[in-house]
Amino acid sequence: MAVLKQLISLAHALADPDLDAAILAEGNVSARGSDETLWIKASGSQMADAGPDAFVEVWNRPVLASLEQTPPTEAAAREILNLARKDLSTQALPSTETFMHAYLLSLPGVEWVGHTHPSSLLSILVTEGAQEFAERRIFPDEVVLCGAASCWVPYVAPGLPLAIELRKSTLAFQKRWGRIPSSYWLQNHGLIVVGRSPREVECGMRMAVKSARILLGALQTGRKPRWLTAEEVQQIANWPDEHYRQRCLWK
Ligand SMILES: [Zn+2]
Repeated sequence: MAVLKQLISLAHALADPDLDAAILAEGNVSARGSDETLWIKASGSQMADAGPDAFVEVWNRPVLASLEQTPPTEAAAREILNLARKDLSTQALPSTETFMHAYLLSLPGVEWVGHTHPSSLLSILVTEGAQEFAERRIFPDEVVLCGAASCWVPYVAPGLPLAIELRKSTLAFQKRWGRIPSSYWLQNHGLIVVGRSPREVECGMRMAVKSARILLGALQTGRKPRWLTAEEVQQIANWPDEHYRQRCLWK
């Protein structure tokens, strides 16, 4: 149950009012369970006061199979999620975003996932042309904790369509950057940070929110932001000292 305990702590950390990233039932956190299962927040439960009953363990195979063979209706997709619960007697039902989380947790090096709707980042994600900001960086710690670029995911309806679109964006990102994204910007929706530990997800989430606040502040000056150049970003991304810092932060 160590995973569940850590997942509860992560949910509480991401619901920190200072982040303004998840209110009411917004957002979700998930983690690998056994090789065949994942843990995810249940539909309708709140991150801020989530306890053990707010989470549900789900078999990942039937959920992932839905990305290959799309169920004909939303009701059929919901039925697949409900039947994928390891304990069918539990009252909690898996979130509709379980498809997306299952896909992310199937990627190499991804063991924990955090998803929120930060007011700061959403203020950018709802504007035309926000995509160009996803692949730019404004200060070094943003590169260290959020990656050299964030993966842009065009708006689609939540649930299975989002999981399928996110997979498409991940594959395109991997082709371009040669690695799996560590953060995702979902157009008109929110933010995802993935990692090998809950601490890595929390650090990435906190820094992404700070970056969004800084970018908003910079844009409010009326002057153009001075972006880090591609060379400057790569220097930070490949700097051994920064790798050391990442390891310290993500313990
Ligand atoms: Zn969401």
